[in-house]
Amino acid sequence: MLYLFIFYLGAIIGSFLYVCILRLPKNEDLVFKKSYCESCKKEIEWFYNVPLFSYLILRGSSSCCNKKINTEYFILELLTGLLFFVNLILFEDFQLLMINIIQIILLLIIFIDYKNRIIFDIFSYSLILIGLVVNYFFSYINPFNISVLDSLITIVISSSFFGLLKFFYKKIKKVDGLGAGDIILIAGLTAWTGFRFFLYLLILSSVTGIVYYYLFNKKRKENFEIPFGSSLGFSFIILLYVATIF
Ligand SMILES: [Zn+2]
Repeated sequence: MLYLFIFYLGAIIGSFLYVCILRLPKNEDLVFKKSYCESCKKEIEWFYNVPLFSYLILRGSSSCCNKKINTEYFILELLTGLLFFVNLILFEDFQLLMINIIQIILLLIIFIDYKNRIIFDIFSYSLILIGLVVNYFFSYINPFNISVLDSLITIVISSSFFGLLKFFYKKIKKVDGLGAGDIILIAGLTAWTGFRFFLYLLILSSVTGIVYYYLFNKKRKENFEIPFGSSLGFSFIILLYVATIF
């Protein structure tokens, strides 16, 4: 029963996260502005706004204008629910709370970058800050269990590496391959992983990036920009579980 409750709590939070993902890049009010339909802008009645169930009952079409509701909405609710569910099995107490918060920040980064190719630096900086504090005071609750020294060194190495990559890519191709946001994000993620998992993160996010390219670039456009921040965040969540279980 508790597991079901936590799963649904995750779905409710996922539903709110999707509102943030739509509104943050547009600078809209998160709390006081009522939910509205993405197609016709009409306000959504509360009973059509129940996480997971509404989408299933309405069979993916909005009640107001019968347009298709974005599947991402449902995917994010389900995903957040599942993550919370799995976290409850794997972690407890303060560690559980911390992992849930970190994943909420990551989901925001993953979806906002995927939809808008924007990474809000404030999220990356919070990852650096929380990561350093955790590694300094209680590194055992970080699934990667690294020292604050490892954390600091890897932040410097990973961000310089991405900085150089950005510099040379621009020199050779004359276009920006990496954004400044990607550099701060890699610093934020490696503050948690340390050096050993930084290498795995590089490999896994490259693979995820290629998968993204084939999955989301159906028209095979030459200039399709891979949401690299999104594949980095996604790879990080996978590695978080790898480091916990193995
Ligand atoms: Zn509508």
